[in-house]
Parts: sequence; C-alpha cells; structure tokens
Amino acid sequence: MNPDDLIRIESRMDEGNVVEKQLKTDLFINGAWVKGDSTLAVMNPSTGTLIAEISTASQAQCDAAVKAAYDAFPGWAKTPSRVRSEILRKAFEIMTAESDDIARLISMENGKTFTDAKGEVSYAAEFFRWFAEEAVRTPGDFRHSPSGDKRILVTHQPIGVSLLITPWNFPAAMATRKIGPALAAGCTVILKAASETPLTALWVVDILQRAGVPAGVVNFVMPEKTGAMISRMMHDPRVRNVSFTGSTEVGRILIKESADLVLRTSLELGGNAPFVVLDDADIDEAVKGAMVAKMRNGGAACTAANRFYVAKSVAAEFTEKFTKAMDDLKMADGLEVGAQLGASVSRRERDKIAELVESAVAAGAELHLGGVIPDGEGAFYPATVLTVKKDNPILQYEVFGPVAPIVTFESDEEAIALSNASEYGLIAYVYSSDLKRAIKTAEALEAGMVAINRGVVSDPAAPFGGVKQSGLGREGGFAGIHEFLETKYIGVEI
Ligand code: NAP
Repeated sequence: MNPDDLIRIESRMDEGNVVEKQLKTDLFINGAWVKGDSTLAVMNPSTGTLIAEISTASQAQCDAAVKAAYDAFPGWAKTPSRVRSEILRKAFEIMTAESDDIARLISMENGKTFTDAKGEVSYAAEFFRWFAEEAVRTPGDFRHSPSGDKRILVTHQPIGVSLLITPWNFPAAMATRKIGPALAAGCTVILKAASETPLTALWVVDILQRAGVPAGVVNFVMPEKTGAMISRMMHDPRVRNVSFTGSTEVGRILIKESADLVLRTSLELGGNAPFVVLDDADIDEAVKGAMVAKMRNGGAACTAANRFYVAKSVAAEFTEKFTKAMDDLKMADGLEVGAQLGASVSRRERDKIAELVESAVAAGAELHLGGVIPDGEGAFYPATVLTVKKDNPILQYEVFGPVAPIVTFESDEEAIALSNASEYGLIAYVYSSDLKRAIKTAEALEAGMVAINRGVVSDPAAPFGGVKQSGLGREGGFAGIHEFLETKYIGVEI
C-alpha cells in the first residue's frame, strides 16, 4: 500500500478512535489511478492543518480524460439500461455502508458538523438509488400525426461526454446529483471537484470503480489551472455537455464558454433565499424551520435562508425566540461531540462573511447576536442575528454563513415584493397557518422551489433548480435525467 494513500480519519465521537483508511489522492483516467506532475494541498479548516496532498492534472492529462470519456461513450450508451442501473444501485449500497467514514472525511475537509455530513452522505447516496431506478424508465412516445398518414416516434438518447463541475459546500451530493443521472442516461463523464474538497469526490469515484463502472466512463481530474483548462475542454468538440454547480459569477463565464461549440449546459447557481413569516404563522414552528433553513450546513447552502421577512405584528416574538435558538448552538470542530455549528470551508470564506456583517452594521443594522470572529486557527464564524432596514446592502448578497438579517413588513404584498427584489430565484420559504394564503404567496414568489411550513425541500425525487440568475435546468426528480438526454423525433410515412 502506498503510504501517500493513507489518511487518518479521526473520530472524536468514538473517544479518539482513529480509522486508518486508504484514500485516493490521484487522478482517475480511463479506469486507472494516475499521478499528476504537481499537487494541491487539502486543508482542515477547523484546525488549519494539512489533511493530504492530491495530484493535479496537466493539460495532457485533461486531454487524456476527454479522450477516455469519448472512446468509452459508444459502449456505455449501448450497455443495457438494466446493467447501468445495477451498477448505480451497487454504488448506493457501498456509499451507504461507508457513510460514517465518508461523513468524517467531509467534516474534515469542509468544516461542517458530522451530523450535517451524515445527512449529506445519505442525500448523496439517494441520487445513486433514484437514478438507478430512473435508468430503466426513460419514456418514449408514439403518435399518429393529425393528418393520419404519418407516425411520430420520439425517443431519447444520451448527449455524450459530459463535463461535471462541482462546488465545495456539498462535496458528495453535488457529485452524485450529476454522476447518477449522467450514467443512468448513458453519458460518460469527467468530474472536476472544488479545490477545497476533492477528497470526498475521489471517494465517490472510488466507489463507482468498485461498483463496476467500466474504464473511461467516469474520469476525475483536478486541472492545474482551473479556468484555462476547463475552457480548453469546453472547446474540444468531443465534449457535448457541461453540468455545473457553483456561483453565479462562474456560471456566467461558463455560459460564455459554452457559446462557441453550442454546448448543452445545466447550471445550478447561487441563491439568496427569502424566509417569509406571515402574521398568522405558528411562531414556534417558524423558528424551528428557520433554524434548519438557515443553519443546515452552517449556512453554506445555496438553499440557505438569507433574508428573513417577518410580519411586523410577530417580529418581536420571532426575533427573540430565533435569537435564543441561535445562541444555544454549540460551535466547535465538526467532529467534536455535540457540535452544531462547524467551521467555514476556509479563512478566506469566513472573512467574506465577516465583511458582509461589518458593512451591514455600518449601514445601520442592529446586532442581536454574534458578529465577532473568535480567536484561534479554525475558520469559525459565530451564529449571528441582525435586524436590518429594507435597503441594507447585506440583503443583496449570498452570505453563505450563519448570518440571519431580519426585516419587518406590513402586508403580504410587501413581503412578496421584497422577496422578489433579487437577481436570484432559487428557493423561498413561507410560514402561515392558512394554507390557501401560503400557496398564493408561493405562487407569487419568483423562485424555482418554495417550501411551505418546512425548512428544507431538497429531495432526490423532486426537481431541484432555480429561476432568474440562480440557474438553468433541473437536477433530481424525473427532470434530472433529461439534462443528459437529447430528444430525437423519427417521422415515419405509413
Ligand atoms: P465557485 O467558486 O463558483 O466554484 C465552483 C466550481 O467551479 C469549483 O470546482 C471551481 O474550481 C470551479 N471554477 C471556478 N472558476 C472556474 C472557471 N473559470 N471555469 C470553470 N470552473 C471554474 O463556487 P463555490 O464557492 O465552490 O460554491 C459556492 C457557490 O455554489 C455558491 O454560490 C452556492 O450558492 C453555489 N451552489 C449552488 C447550488 C445549486 O444547486 N444551485 C448548490 C450548491 C452550491 P476551483 O475550486 O478550482 O476554483
């Protein structure tokens, strides 16, 4: 066993138990683990210490990954969907069996708590199971033309080589949410993970290899120069599809890059979710939901509630109870017993959160809780609650941390207008004890997803995605596989 491939996965929950695990740190091209010429350091943001060095890919290695995926495509596309399905099902089983160790690794490289990481692994594995089931159910269509003398056959075929680019905040789930439908559809893939969290993605790739994915069907590269090398791959005619999850800023770049070869793109981008509490809401339930919507993943979620719009008549009660719940959270290394708020992914990300809070306070926000970076090496930022005016600049940004700005409103119409005053439109939350009123509000909100009286909606069986500058396309549900399929119409003269 190569000593470079060994990693110590610590579990303070098991009283200092240390699991020695063979961890992949190389590139995966054409079914083989290959070293790169250079390396990338992966850090533990809770401690500021090095976890591992992974290989990065040269231009030639990126080209080799494209070639491998291209060569493997015809065989994989023709593989019976039952076989593809069974490989995905096996991947689900392996991932589920290894969930504790994967969760520990996620917590180490991302900073989130073990509880959040366990939730992520279970969500991530579900994408393998869901798309194992979808693989054998791709619908087709047979119709008579209105003139009666022709037949219309509609079928769906895999697009081809797909480039998958993922962010750091859900390093397992964002990979499986793309790989699952791509493999189910019959596409071959090249996965590129975020620089902060490649180890989890490598584990996912390793699972797929053990589940029986043939050589070349799944490839993993971490380009030495992300922008330039991804651009080159997007200008290679063998690549036909790009599926990206990350910031709106990078999404815009990729739309431009995709124009030259008119690539299919699906983009899951940033969010700035409003959380609306109407005056008839059950406030205790709204606070419970707010804690999940805000604090899942320490606030580093595209679905995180970022702007709390609360009816004036209930604002004092909501603010008091919510602030208390936030204050009760235990902030600690994600692997510590009882940790409820872990570290941000890096000090750089943590400092961005701090700057947004400082500018909100400078613009007149009233600080109820938090707002001060604690001492120490870890990238921690405390649970923070503010009351802000409607025009406070913090409301325009995706905070990506445990920060909750609260704004009061006078009428449902005003709550809707304030919620919609954003370039983003991923998700919105509504609390009301009148379902009719909540549904009317949900219909008026400019968002791809709305949660009524609940703090989380992510579900592999549901279409996930946004409107406006939150993205294009949908992942999960019945729609997810179609991001990797082309529709073909065959006209027949009878
Ligand atoms: P990011 O900075 O946009 O990076 C995402 C990925 O894009 C990383 O793998 C990154 O690689 C890569 N990348 C960066 N520049 C690139 C370029 N010029 N060309 C090609 N790829 C490039 O986002 P992040 O900070 O990792 O993640 C946070 C963002 O993701 C937030 O905005 C969040 O809302 C969004 N997100 C959205 C969803 C959704 O489903 N809508 C889900 C999760 C997260 P490097 O690491 O090498 O730079």
